Amino acid sequence: MASSTHHKVIILGSGPAGLTAAIYAARGSLAPVLIHGPLPGGQLTTTTEVENYPGFELGVMGPDLMTTMEKQAIRFGTEVKADVIKVADLSKRPFTLTGQSASYTCDVLIIATGASAKLLGIPGEKELMGYGVSTCATCDGAFFKNKDIVVIGGGDSACEEASFLTRFGRKVYMIHRRDELRASKIMQDRVRANPKIELMLSKAPLEILGTKQGGITGISLKDVKTNKDEIFKCDAVFLGIGHTPNSEIFKGQLEMDPNGYLITKPNSSYTKVAGVFACGDVQDHIYRQAVTAAGSGCMAAIDAERWIEESH
Ligand code: NAP
Repeated sequence: MASSTHHKVIILGSGPAGLTAAIYAARGSLAPVLIHGPLPGGQLTTTTEVENYPGFELGVMGPDLMTTMEKQAIRFGTEVKADVIKVADLSKRPFTLTGQSASYTCDVLIIATGASAKLLGIPGEKELMGYGVSTCATCDGAFFKNKDIVVIGGGDSACEEASFLTRFGRKVYMIHRRDELRASKIMQDRVRANPKIELMLSKAPLEILGTKQGGITGISLKDVKTNKDEIFKCDAVFLGIGHTPNSEIFKGQLEMDPNGYLITKPNSSYTKVAGVFACGDVQDHIYRQAVTAAGSGCMAAIDAERWIEESH
């Protein structure tokens, strides 16, 4: 391991939550160091046009929005480092983070590591992400007005996405690998009562078909009951198979819900460990929007600033 450096405030994660925390902390003269991991800029860099981030009347490309946010954070004195943190020791202050290329200590840690949408791991999925494949109906649904939309999954997320997408799509096909849905009864009832949603059960996705230039043309499926393959024509595929919060390195150290989302004290970013704050999708499984993540990043920086003042 190379070096170890000490910093007053470290922010982990470079999505809207982490970068907003950095802008506020830097403007508050806390000289934050922001460490980004394998996906600089976070989930928004995997999408194309963002139409619902306030301030951009004509929309903004996800990667451009994140680059601008990073420049804004740097302008006020944020130091940005690239490293993948493998181990976090929050048992004593200063906290220690051990990364792939260096180790770091800090008095205050702001966790903004986000969540990762689960992927199917089938051909076409990664290649066509942002070109007709999406993991966020709220972000991308409006691009598919009067189109045939497929939603994959049988849980609450898939039901919610399917219901939402009926605002745009000509028809929404909810494709699930088993013959019963996992979702809560109320969500199932809502989906079954919606004439624009058609359930396609016992179908396992094999490949998403299309090109970046022409968009999605269909999805190849296996009927798990008959074992027959088929190609189902559609214009978009939304993955609703859940998210995984990136909280693995904090297991056993911070409070989490059963799905791994970090628990913060109500209406704040405070965790149970003094000096550790959490914001963005790693602690929010309800809203999961860029603007709400940015808002909670702002809260974390203000909470951290006040905590530093009170404890010194
Ligand atoms: P989930 O309950 O884990 O459901 C994931 C769904 O995706 C399951 O139906 C699963 O199939 C399917 N799936 C997973 N991997 C797959 C694969 N490789 N290929 C095909 N299908 C796959 O996740 P979730 O729906 O995101 O919900 C997570 C938690 O958040 C739940 O507690 C849920 O109640 C909550 N939530 C609540 C709301 C709400 O109340 N408004 C909204 C969203 C989420 P199987 O069923 O076969 O496993």
